[in-house]
Amino acid sequence: MSEARVAALVMAAGRGQRLGGDEPKQYLLLGGLSVLARSLALFASHPRIDRVRAVIHADDRERYGEAIGSLKLAPPVSGGTTRQDSVRLGLESLANDPPDFVLIHDAARPLTPPSVIGRVIDALKTSVGAIPALPVTDTLKQGDGSRVTGTVPRAGLYRTQTPQGFRFAEILEAHRRFAGAELTDDAAVAEAAGHPVALVPGDEAAFKITTADDLERARRVSGETRIGTGFDVHRFGPGDHVWLCGIRVPHQRGLIGHSDADVGLHALTDAILGAIGAGDIGLHFPPSDPRWRGAPSGGFLAHAASLVTARGGRLVHADVTVICERPKVGPHRDAMRAAIAAILGIDLDRVSVKATTTEGLGFTGRGEGIAAEAVATVML
Ligand code: MG
Repeated sequence: MSEARVAALVMAAGRGQRLGGDEPKQYLLLGGLSVLARSLALFASHPRIDRVRAVIHADDRERYGEAIGSLKLAPPVSGGTTRQDSVRLGLESLANDPPDFVLIHDAARPLTPPSVIGRVIDALKTSVGAIPALPVTDTLKQGDGSRVTGTVPRAGLYRTQTPQGFRFAEILEAHRRFAGAELTDDAAVAEAAGHPVALVPGDEAAFKITTADDLERARRVSGETRIGTGFDVHRFGPGDHVWLCGIRVPHQRGLIGHSDADVGLHALTDAILGAIGAGDIGLHFPPSDPRWRGAPSGGFLAHAASLVTARGGRLVHADVTVICERPKVGPHRDAMRAAIAAILGIDLDRVSVKATTTEGLGFTGRGEGIAAEAVATVML
């Protein structure tokens, strides 16, 4: 049998504003892309899917255009007043060039693994319908709002996910026949028409974004980790103290530099800029600019951190190594960590300050200056 032609309908016509705010949840951003665009891309990039179409709210044409960017898709169709209506209208829109199979997916499940899509398609070779599902593992209670009224046996119960897949002709006919019947999902429409529906293993990653917590979870698991490094050196000169990792450390010499010459904070600033590909400290704060003469380097570090936030990212970890024979860093380590954590607005246990000597070797060994290197980890 030649490869089946498979179309995907991504259902995005709901208003779904339970997350608060005016924006329907399918248009909220997840790692720089809308939830809807991510759901559409699952199918557009799947090798076994031929056609992808969104079913959207009639008011969302403009939003949709902005949301999908450069994805290559069939033009969207407008949904109806209920999800079931919307699915039927989506199916009708495919009817003049009918696929063999159709997958119907909730836009609010943008992290569904491709393997789940593949399993649903496979099952349609032997079943009219197929849905991904996971066995219920929590104990189920009935209640009246404040009190338990019974325990429901969970054996044989499943939580269903999407995409739900069907042979196209059968599900279109079933949706026409049961239009207006208020069935809870497309599998229920197929069941009402007497068609067998197979269960295939779902995946926890295919969870539905319903609450703000769900969106946060989706952002957490779909984010990418970036690591940046930084390195800096400043030469000793006259003075009675050095600034090191945001702390004034008494010393018989000072450090020469345009700003306060805090070599630790400079290395860390570069590490953060490196993690987001935002150039280096000299680009943002040119030594030629008199504004930065003697400037506290905490301002440079705070600026780098603000660029991370502006990208929708989160700084999760900073590690600085100070390289010198003198002054001793150990007595100031906790104050340095606290200073950095305060500037970055992150927890103390996400900040590390370490020190090493070079065993008397090289310029740090000869006491000519201080070097520092740093690593920063950012979740985008
Ligand atoms: Mg520097």
